Amino acid sequence: MKIEIQKSDIIEIATDAIVNAANTSLLGGGGVDGAIHRKGGKQILEECVAIRNRQGGCDVGQAVITTAGNLPSKFVIHTVGPVWNGDKEEKKKLLADCYRNSLELALQNNIKTIAFPNISTGIYHFPKDKAAEIAIKTVKEFPRKEEFEKIIFVCFDDENYDLYKALLA
Ligand code: ADP
Repeated sequence: MKIEIQKSDIIEIATDAIVNAANTSLLGGGGVDGAIHRKGGKQILEECVAIRNRQGGCDVGQAVITTAGNLPSKFVIHTVGPVWNGDKEEKKKLLADCYRNSLELALQNNIKTIAFPNISTGIYHFPKDKAAEIAIKTVKEFPRKEEFEKIIFVCFDDENYDLYKALLA
């Protein structure tokens, strides 16, 4: 199992799954969510709507899966990061849940390669250093991590890229 960091746009990545930093509505939004739906096309949104009709969206820290439409990967795992306000300790746990539940769902779907964006560090304002620590720690401590071939942290901005590089060095 390899852990990699890449400075790139997650919609260009060809893995079994990419992870989307979605919101509870599952209906798309800004940031990475907007980019995924724009390039992925209406197939992803239709599947999100079907999940929403079935279970009423997705709670913070949870994850759901769709196919990837026009994207180069096979699946999109949509997880909902916490907004950085209120009970900070609770928010840290919820961010770890995002990574854990995404990995769990990936294994249930035979996914061997997965790419994560820096969940919650955009519009949701989670401090980037804390988020990076949680992301790396949660992946490293994931009990079944060896069942993956590759786990990629996709950093879109320099600050995240530098933080991940330092933490994984
Ligand atoms: P959130 O609402 O969870 O904060 P955002 O999409 O606003 O989600 O931001 C999460 C992270 O994703 C940010 O670090 C942002 O820089 C990054 N990001 C935005 N667009 C892309 C993209 N196309 N590929 C990878 N990462 C992206």
